[in-house]
Order: sequence, then C-alpha cells, then structure tokens
Amino acid sequence: MNARLSNRQIEEQLIIAEFAVPREFAFQPGEYVQIILPGGLKRYFSVASSPSQQGTVRIATRPSHSEFKKILAAMPLGTDVEIKGPWGDMVLPKDESVKLTFVAGGIGITPFLSMLSELVSQRSERDVQLLHFTDDKIFEDELRDYIANLPNGKMDVIYERINPEIIKMKIPDYQTRTFFLAAPPGFVNVATAILQELQIPNRQTIGESYTGY
Ligand SMILES: Cc1cc2nc3c(=O)[nH]c(=O)nc-3n(C[C@H](O)[C@H](O)[C@H](O)COP(=O)(O)OP(=O)(O)OC[C@H]3O[C@@H](n4cnc5c(N)ncnc54)[C@H](O)[C@@H]3O)c2cc1C
Repeated sequence: MNARLSNRQIEEQLIIAEFAVPREFAFQPGEYVQIILPGGLKRYFSVASSPSQQGTVRIATRPSHSEFKKILAAMPLGTDVEIKGPWGDMVLPKDESVKLTFVAGGIGITPFLSMLSELVSQRSERDVQLLHFTDDKIFEDELRDYIANLPNGKMDVIYERINPEIIKMKIPDYQTRTFFLAAPPGFVNVATAILQELQIPNRQTIGESYTGY
C-alpha cells in the first residue's frame, strides 16, 4: 500500500512520523507494519496511533546513525513510502473482564499509545494498568491524558530497571492479570523471566520483541 509522509516531529530522543493512508486501511491497536522507504530500506514499527484516526498511521522511533533513520528524519513531507501489514498477536482481548497490564520498555510504548487511545475512543471502563520503564519522558503527557480519561486506568513511569519487587509493589493483583510486553529483545527477555519467576501462567503473557535493536 502506498502512503505519504504527512507530518513529522523530531526531538532529541524521538522521531515521530505520520503517514496518510487510504481510509479503508484497517488495523487493530497493538499491530505493527513494515515501512519501506524510497530506495528500499525497510523496518518494522508498531502503529502508535489508533484505528479511530482513520487515514493515518503514526510511528515513533529513536534517532540513530542507521541509513533508514537518517532518511526517515530528512525526507520531505509528501514523500511516498510503501507500508506492508498489519501483523501481530498483541491485540486487545475481546473479553472485557480481562485485567490488562501493559509493560513497556523505552520505545516499546508505541503499541500501548495505540491501545490506550482506542480505549479512550471507546469510552472503555476496562481495568488497565501501564508500567513504562524508561530513561526519558517520552510521550508522558499524552499517556497521562489517556489514563485520565479511563475510569479504571492507572500508570506509572519508572526510571529504574525492571525487577520482581517493582511488579509486586505496583501490581498487587499481578497473578490474575494479563501482561502485554513490548520493548527491545533484552528487556522482553528479562521481563518474561521475571513474570515466570512470579508464577504468572504463560497464557497470561503476550510479548512483542523489537528485534533489530
Ligand atoms: C514487531 C516489531 C515492532 C517494532 N516496533 C518498533 C517501534 O515501534 N519503534 C521502533 O523504534 N522500533 C521498532 N522495532 C524495531 C525496528 O524495526 C528497528 O529494528 C529498530 O528501530 C532499529 O533500527 P535501526 O535502523 O536503528 O537499526 P540498525 O541499528 O541500523 O540495524 C542494524 C542491522 O539490523 C538489521 N535489522 C533491522 N531490523 C531488523 C529486524 N527486525 N530483524 C532483523 N534484522 C533487522 C538491519 O538491516 C541492519 O543490518 C520493531 C521491530 C519489530 C520486529
């Protein structure tokens, strides 16, 4: 599918890009796409916008010295790219009684921006808790806005390494919740091991590893 760069914001630790896509393009919050730049370089990105914003796909990434990121940061607005997908298993369970716990490592916050934004659009009353482990304050204001609009939503931004004590302290009912993990592979591996150590059944854990980091 062809898409057109319609908006871009560049910060010290973040490149946010929005693409105009056909209104019929459908995806579920939590899914990812592949962006193929003019010239053929490609990378996968979770969609960081909600399906309710029809006609738009937003992605967010860390700046780096990779050729892909340099082009993404410099190409003029209006540039055409190709988008493939969507794919992914990390989508919201239909059963509204499932208690959702989103655990993001750094830039792994992207699929949860999509999910939270969608839950707000649906005026959802679901029990949802976000833990964002990060070194910087990316998207904090936007996240706080979503949580303020979810009657059973809660969030913590945590500036230390994930460990079992933090999970137990922040999520006392951790054994009965379903965990969604998104982050670079090192974080997902450590977080998965911690959830296993806490004897959370594997069926209550869904992870998205950002291979490539
Ligand atoms: C499902 C999924 C969702 C993702 N969502 C995001 C997101 O929302 N935001 C974000 O910043 N990043 C996301 N990533 C990671 C992203 O695709 C890039 O890999 C990452 O941003 C690093 O890009 P870079 O250009 O700086 O890589 P570089 O450091 O330049 O890459 C080094 C090498 O790794 C190779 N490489 C890159 N990606 C992959 C891959 N997936 N598998 C194997 N080799 C690879 C490159 O070809 C290159 O040779 C996601 C990855 C996956 C798999």
